[in-house]
Amino acid sequence: MILAILGLSLAMCDSNTENTSKDHEIADSTKTNKTTVMTDTVQKTDEEWKKILTPEQYRVLRQKGTERPFTGEYENNYEPGTYVCAACGQELFKSDTKFDAGCGWPSFYREAAKGHIIEKIDLSLGMKRIEIICSKCGGHLGHVFDDGPQPTGLRYCVNSVSLKFIPGKR
Ligand code: FE
Repeated sequence: MILAILGLSLAMCDSNTENTSKDHEIADSTKTNKTTVMTDTVQKTDEEWKKILTPEQYRVLRQKGTERPFTGEYENNYEPGTYVCAACGQELFKSDTKFDAGCGWPSFYREAAKGHIIEKIDLSLGMKRIEIICSKCGGHLGHVFDDGPQPTGLRYCVNSVSLKFIPGKR
C-alpha cells in the first residue's frame, strides 16, 4: 500500500557527481529564468537542465517523475555521510536520519537543515500528498508522509536519482 502511494515521486543517481559541481558554478551566477525561492537559487531553462542531468534525473527532478521502487542506488545505503541534491548540490539529508521504511525508496525522518526543503500540496493521481522540493533549484525530490519514526514522526520518501551521496562522518 505504501508502495502504491509512494510509487510516484522518486529516482536514481549514478552520474550526478560532475553535474552537481558544474551546476553549482552556474547556479550561483544568476540566470534568467522562472521560479525564485530563496536568495541563493539555481535557475536554468529546461534545455540547460537537459544538458546537465541524465534523462532519468531530468524526468524525476524536473518533471516530477518517480523511480521504480527498490531500484534506486541509495535505497540500501547506510554508510555515514550526507545526501545532497543531485542537481544543485544543496545538502538535503544526513545519514543518521535515514531508516528502512521498507517502501523501496531512501527514507529519512528529518531534513538536513531548515529551509533546504520546500513542501507543496500535491493532488495528482487522485491522492493528497505533500511533495518535497529542493529549495535551491526547485528539483522534485519525492514526498513526505506522517508515518515516520520518532523523534519527528515524518518519513521523507526520496528518489535516489534526486540525491548524490557524499561519504563522511555523520
Ligand atoms: Fe537542488
